[in-house]
Amino acid sequence: METQGGELLIVGAGHAGSELAIAARQGGWPGRIIVLGDETGVPYQRPPLSKAYLLGKCEADALALRPASAYEAAHIERLPGARLTSIDRTAHTVTLADGSVLHYDKLALCTGGRPRPLACEGIDPQHPPANLFYLRTLADADGIRANLAPGARVVVVGGGYVGLEVAASARGLGAEVTVIEAQPRVLARVAGAEVARFYEQVHREAGVRILTGTGVERVICEGGRITAVQCSNGQRIAADVVVAGIGMLPNIEAAAAAGLASRDGIRVDELARTADPDIMAAGDCTLQHHALADRELRLESVPNALEQARAAASWLCGKPKPNRSVPWFWSDQYELKLQMAGLSQGHDRCVLRGDPGKRSFCAFYLHASRLLAVDAVNRPGEFMLARRALAQPVHIDAERLADEAVPLKDVLAGSETVTGKP
Ligand SMILES: Cc1cc2nc3c(=O)[nH]c(=O)nc-3n(C[C@H](O)[C@H](O)[C@H](O)COP(=O)(O)OP(=O)(O)OC[C@H]3O[C@@H](n4cnc5c(N)ncnc54)[C@H](O)[C@@H]3O)c2cc1C
Repeated sequence: METQGGELLIVGAGHAGSELAIAARQGGWPGRIIVLGDETGVPYQRPPLSKAYLLGKCEADALALRPASAYEAAHIERLPGARLTSIDRTAHTVTLADGSVLHYDKLALCTGGRPRPLACEGIDPQHPPANLFYLRTLADADGIRANLAPGARVVVVGGGYVGLEVAASARGLGAEVTVIEAQPRVLARVAGAEVARFYEQVHREAGVRILTGTGVERVICEGGRITAVQCSNGQRIAADVVVAGIGMLPNIEAAAAAGLASRDGIRVDELARTADPDIMAAGDCTLQHHALADRELRLESVPNALEQARAAASWLCGKPKPNRSVPWFWSDQYELKLQMAGLSQGHDRCVLRGDPGKRSFCAFYLHASRLLAVDAVNRPGEFMLARRALAQPVHIDAERLADEAVPLKDVLAGSETVTGKP
């Protein structure tokens, strides 16, 4: 258990880094806390970038996770515009891009990720087209927003959450939107087929063109701008703006060079500890074993970043509280609030409760009657109940679950706790 204090250096001033700093101070970390990050300004929320902020419904100031004064009051030093390039675990130092060297007693890596670049004929990565955008930062959102005029022809590459949220926002601003998705359906990596079908329908009804099972073969450029996207099915789609939302690459290069990262993440345990007792990691850059899936996963969500950050702080402050939270996530598109909890991979049955036609339903994912996950559309009450039930593996009666005449709390109360592994 850790309590000795000293210098806590946190790299990455996003959701995880900001939370870790505050939680460590609140938990009683007695020494210096320094948060350095390569962005400027105070740490801010990313989820609204594809939603309210893109729609112009909120300003940049409203995105701050907490005001600058909160860090000052907690005696947390901030170093914006500073980029970590390497870690010397023996010397307990990090080197920054400007050559300066900082000492640490404890180091926390909260470096998140960056968008996966779109690679195809017509794109020179050294000189990307001026109207090709990604969405991770406030600056990215500003770039997209400035190009979303009514009638603009927007091509979104990727039908995951970020892509679909951008599509919904762009459509809301009056743009002509086409989504190109290489998989046979949207949300292929993150939601069940029923929910994906529902969202495809919702987008089509809103006037978005969705092309699934379709890749991008090349882009056609004139004067440094994309004028059209050539699809694998031969279709050519005229474009004023192209937004690629094709996933994220974790920022793990320095950790990997220091021997702390494998595959695509920095390996951490339930207390956010890496293999080095003086280095922790939290957020999108980490890989953690999750009991629900019985395997290592890299989760890309705000709740995960916060839970891991709090677990790290609890360990640092000598009051260890392991992160065993059920993964959950949300997505806002049009007037729909989608909330997901658990991990649906491996399910053998999907039970719908409610009516997708009425835009209010839950999809429950079961394996051998064990509840694995839930996707809830405009059903926050049932979502909360189901999320709580997922914390403890349970067997559920699928017929009762599908019957809306039986309140969900009664269905769950009558469920049996699972013993042993699934
Ligand atoms: C458009 C969009 C919409 C989203 N919507 C949702 C949603 O609805 N719900 C949800 O739960 N999640 C959502 N997410 C995901 C969520 O934002 C991330 O899971 C969350 O930001 C992860 O927090 P983090 O602290 O790990 O990483 P980040 O918030 O990305 O912070 C990492 C920080 O570290 C900095 N950094 C990286 N490398 C270095 C380095 N070498 N030196 C210094 N600094 C460095 C980065 O620039 C960044 O500022 C969304 C993400 C995006 C992009």
